[in-house]
Amino acid sequence: MRTKQQYIEHLFRKNRNVYYKGEKIGRDHEVLEQSIGVLGHTFDAARNPETAELCTAKSHLSGELINRFCHVHQSTDDLHKKQDMTRALCRQVGYCIGRCMGVDSLNAVNAVSYEADRMNSGKTQYHKHFLNWLDYFQKNDLVGACAQTDVKGDRLLRPSQQPDPDQYLHVVERKKDGIVVRGCKVHITQASVADEIIVVPTRSLSPEEKDYAVAFAVPADYEGVTQVIHPHNMRKREHFKRGFNFGAADSYVIFDNVFVPWERVFLCGEYQHGGICALLFALFHRHSYSGCKPAIGDIALGMAALAAEVNGIEKVPHVKEKLAKIIQVSELGYAAGFTASEMGKAEIYIPGMGQVPYGPGSCIPNSIYCNVGRCLTGEAVFHEQEILCDIAGGVPATFPFEQDLINADLKPFMEKYLKRNSKMQVEDQIKFWLYLSDMTVSDLAGGLNYASYHGGGSPVMEQIAITSQYDIQQRKNIVKKLAGMTLE
Ligand SMILES: Cc1cc2nc3c(=O)[nH]c(=O)nc-3n(C[C@H](O)[C@H](O)[C@H](O)COP(=O)(O)OP(=O)(O)OC[C@H]3O[C@@H](n4cnc5c(N)ncnc54)[C@H](O)[C@@H]3O)c2cc1C
Repeated sequence: MRTKQQYIEHLFRKNRNVYYKGEKIGRDHEVLEQSIGVLGHTFDAARNPETAELCTAKSHLSGELINRFCHVHQSTDDLHKKQDMTRALCRQVGYCIGRCMGVDSLNAVNAVSYEADRMNSGKTQYHKHFLNWLDYFQKNDLVGACAQTDVKGDRLLRPSQQPDPDQYLHVVERKKDGIVVRGCKVHITQASVADEIIVVPTRSLSPEEKDYAVAFAVPADYEGVTQVIHPHNMRKREHFKRGFNFGAADSYVIFDNVFVPWERVFLCGEYQHGGICALLFALFHRHSYSGCKPAIGDIALGMAALAAEVNGIEKVPHVKEKLAKIIQVSELGYAAGFTASEMGKAEIYIPGMGQVPYGPGSCIPNSIYCNVGRCLTGEAVFHEQEILCDIAGGVPATFPFEQDLINADLKPFMEKYLKRNSKMQVEDQIKFWLYLSDMTVSDLAGGLNYASYHGGGSPVMEQIAITSQYDIQQRKNIVKKLAGMTLE
């Protein structure tokens, strides 16, 4: 396994293909520093005796100890550990740990490449190619980003109906030694500070959409790949230092006639499995949310409780009610993920067929529980912000800047008028309001709320998954029986 320093040194050697504010930048640009700090933490955590057991696993390929973010889940225990690792690390960095997109996509591709080969009766070698790539990925302890979301053009048109066929990434040429792809994937978290980009389809596909059924991996600085980033960083602090400086950067990833050798192609043309690949990545990613969203809930709860304490209103009934709401959502989200882990199987749900075996035996979390948990916690994001706004009052929106807080002329006034709770040091009260302001009324906070709401699929996508997979007919029959109606 690599150290954080080795990850950084490798990253800084990458080709310059990242644009920020009109300039081509290196990975050593200060705007990526906080994102690198977050991913760097995943290397530290794998070596820290307190978190090593959660954050490492035994590779099913080499038998070696690897970072859990590179692992294919072999058991329900692996799913439990991935959920708990995600919650633990998100608590430590203060938001998204940023490495789950890689592990979620490689778990999806592992199953899909196997099944596509099986359908093709040995005419393709996707799974063999995938396992060779995975072995390289695991041995080098690489960071993966997942590029699923296409730009999508007109939302009501299918990929094959778009006036511009590049609105969904697709194969434009098949060659003897590989394929050429074109398109643009959007909102790709941490792609600029990742080693590899794993590309999977966005949606279900029809027989005439074979060219869109493509999955592959390329280095993040690969020829023909251009990234345009939107970083979300905590504001710079000089005097009132934080425990962790969180940051993440999302990319538009443009694939301009990119040649991908067959050894890195894991699906190409099998439209049935293209749709399943899209759903499976979303499923694994929604399972990751059952770890990260409870952690974000933990932080929201801590902020709400501290705001109440600083304001002296902890015992007020409406505050208790609001704290209870945050706890309910976080722990129900966690419980849904726990159940999804516990019910994990080498199976998926296929409409019309129900639960069917899928993949080479690796463990897939239960879909209903992943989706209900993700939907519940995703929909709660803005309500949690509303609770924080209510309990905090207006302070986070108008709080003075650091420089004014330490200015010799202003300092006595600041400390006198910013002190609310006589039992807490004024410096701690200042640090708390600065943090709450970072997390609720900043550029960063706006981006994070969108990430929590839409990442892994908007709530409506989870509602579609839930209602199409849940046995609603069985529930109708329960009522028919109770009501004495005729059963079909
Ligand atoms: C900060 C952030 C980070 C992200 N990170 C990643 C990442 O790392 N990798 C990745 O692949 N993706 C990532 N995503 C993408 C995320 O999965 C998508 O934002 C999400 O799936 C919604 O897609 P969209 O943004 O295109 O919105 P849309 O799909 O355009 O949704 C907008 C609205 O249109 C509605 N709509 C869309 N299509 C239809 C239709 N056919 N019929 C009816 N209504 C429709 C939706 O329900 C919604 O109400 C990230 C997103 C954000 C915001």
